[in-house]
Amino acid sequence: MTPVIALVGRPNVGKSTLFNRLTRSRDALVADFPGLTRDRKYGNGQLGGKEYTVIDTGGISGDEQGIDAAMAEQSLLAIDEADIVLFLVDARSGLIPADEAIANHLRVNQKKTWLVVNKTDGLEEHSAMAEFWGLGLGDPRPIAASHGRNVTALIDEVLAPF
Ligand code: GDP
Ligand code: MG
Repeated sequence: MTPVIALVGRPNVGKSTLFNRLTRSRDALVADFPGLTRDRKYGNGQLGGKEYTVIDTGGISGDEQGIDAAMAEQSLLAIDEADIVLFLVDARSGLIPADEAIANHLRVNQKKTWLVVNKTDGLEEHSAMAEFWGLGLGDPRPIAASHGRNVTALIDEVLAPF
């Protein structure tokens, strides 16, 4: 079974940037599904001979109404479909209440969840991680999706059990 990785987090943390990086392999197959699934985007990639599927989502703020509620629903569906959840937060904006709200959901979810702190380019990693320990989702993992910083090492580790 090909492991499925869901990218979740509030809007603008860099989920789509990471999705594009993870599915850039030549055999990447990116498809947008119409209708109910329109806010989930699927792609394939491989690393070290292991294939994986990635699901990008529109984002979830933890306090949804109207169109945002539909977006959040897609994120919850993506989590259900996934073997692995990468919860992205933003080192530049720091921890905000919306992150806490999402973390509350993820903590009760049974899926293996990694706390990924994006946009660490130009920042000192150790101090950039400090405030995210409090989310209670384990060791925060610094990356920079747009630069590729630490991305391969992270995915290698994430895929290790598969
Ligand atoms: P999404 O809404 O979570 O899918 O976020 P996007 O992938 O659309 O990215 C939101 C913004 O953050 C864009 O302007 C990206 O260029 C920027 N961004 C994404 N990753 C990084 C990063 O690693 N470093 C920096 N500095 N900016 C980033
Ligand atoms: Mg996006």
